[in-house]
Amino acid sequence: MSHGLVTMSYIVAMILFILSLSGLSNQETARKGNYYGMLGMAIAIVATALSALVSSYEILIIALLIGGLIGTKAALTVEMTQMPELVAIMHSLVGVAAVLVGYANFMDDSAGLEGVEKTIHEVEIYVGILIGAITFSGSVIAFGKLSGRLGGKPLLLPNRHFLNLGLLISAILLGHYFLNSTETSGIFPKLITQLESTFNLSHETSSWFLNHFEALKNGTFPLFLMTIVALVFGIHMVMAIGGADMPVVVSMLNSYSGWAAAATGFMLSNDLLIVTGALVGSSGAILSYIMCRAMNRHFLSVIAGGFGTSSGGKAAEIVGDVQSITVEETAQLLLSAKNIMIIPGYGMAVAQAQHTVYEMTKLLRGKGKKVGFGIHPVAGRMPGHMNVLLAEAKVPYDIVYEMDEINDDWGEVDVSIVIGANDIVNPSALTDPNSPIAGMPVIECWKGETTIVMKRSMASGYAGVGNPLFVMENTRMLFGDANATLQAVLKALNG
Ligand code: NDP
Repeated sequence: MSHGLVTMSYIVAMILFILSLSGLSNQETARKGNYYGMLGMAIAIVATALSALVSSYEILIIALLIGGLIGTKAALTVEMTQMPELVAIMHSLVGVAAVLVGYANFMDDSAGLEGVEKTIHEVEIYVGILIGAITFSGSVIAFGKLSGRLGGKPLLLPNRHFLNLGLLISAILLGHYFLNSTETSGIFPKLITQLESTFNLSHETSSWFLNHFEALKNGTFPLFLMTIVALVFGIHMVMAIGGADMPVVVSMLNSYSGWAAAATGFMLSNDLLIVTGALVGSSGAILSYIMCRAMNRHFLSVIAGGFGTSSGGKAAEIVGDVQSITVEETAQLLLSAKNIMIIPGYGMAVAQAQHTVYEMTKLLRGKGKKVGFGIHPVAGRMPGHMNVLLAEAKVPYDIVYEMDEINDDWGEVDVSIVIGANDIVNPSALTDPNSPIAGMPVIECWKGETTIVMKRSMASGYAGVGNPLFVMENTRMLFGDANATLQAVLKALNG
């Protein structure tokens, strides 16, 4: 394929990616947005494969087949509730790709660059590996936390901010060493001599290092050390984030993966990868900002880690009596209500109750009731989780409201039904400064006349905090799996 045609295809792919992002910003156009993205990616892959950049088609086809098979299997088998962890582990792959491309570029001398160009190329390599390694280890930890393999509790090491600062300074110093050591031969022995005096290494130890590693290309040592520093930083950053703040981390790692891809694009001199990476990086950063606003958190503090933790005091105990309600009583309450608000949460995704919820909604609307859905920005386990589920069940978009649209109108709501939600309807976020979710805006359903909460037990949600909503005067608990309970309510409503 000629260079001009490749460039042309890349421009078309870029336009399709931009159209895809703009389509994805709205529920009604999201499907179209996905198609644009798929078409753009297909054009990008074909153009890259046919460009002169590819030297071995066998390797490319094998890689495409392996990647395609793994991707197809993952997409076909993953449960909707496992989607966030799948996204997290996918981000880690972008990170590891950036690291590998960085090392491959570093070892490849064929470009024969000199002077400023060489320095710029080395900075690209260094920054690419740095962002890639942080994205990789951070995403692996996020995968562990989202899949429940690692606890949601934040790991708060003493002086953790100094540790972060130390890691950042080491990365900068190592960058300085890296750039100098590729210019000057013999920097490695100098570094070892310095380490020998700083850490009182024995002469045997330093000689061992010199003998074993001097043969390596100049610059390998600082690059390798920086990779370890970046991996530790990624692990520490995500380990320090408390359960309730994970949404910000998920979108932040999404952004990092974009920047890692852009850095890879610079290393490979691939304009499409640079633009696509920048699109993902900046849209992820905007999403992180939106998530931070939804959680009432400061963006920089979340990046520095250690969020989702309380001010230090003990969160208040939940005291009071739980009032449960039967399926028949629930049906009666719904039949006598005029205005009903449904608040779905993670439990609706677990129970796969979205279809039954919509069946019930249609029935109630058919009886002249006003029924709406109230969506919290961090409900579920990934941004837009509830919207995706409701769209899957074909719930009309005009009865799906954002939190801010409904929080002032609770006086008009007769019955609200909380389906498998917990943290997003927890009043202690507004009243208890020691709560780990203190300051997070929540859906204030308790201001309506009656709230029915559907969940299986009194267990806490993702943030691990008790919920005073469950013992409020106007709350009724309907225990059981959300889907089974809703089916029973539907049956009772049908008489
Ligand atoms: P929560 O995790 O707070 O609560 C979900 C509730 O669902 C649980 O208390 C559970 O109670 C109940 N549940 C689970 N399975 C079922 C079932 N089969 N039937 C009925 N109920 C069930 O979810 P929310 O949506 O309220 O809040 C989301 C939380 O996740 C927030 O803390 C948010 O910060 C965090 N988060 C969000 C992300 C995002 O991007 N949206 C990403 C990562 C974390 P029980 O066991 O008693 O049934």
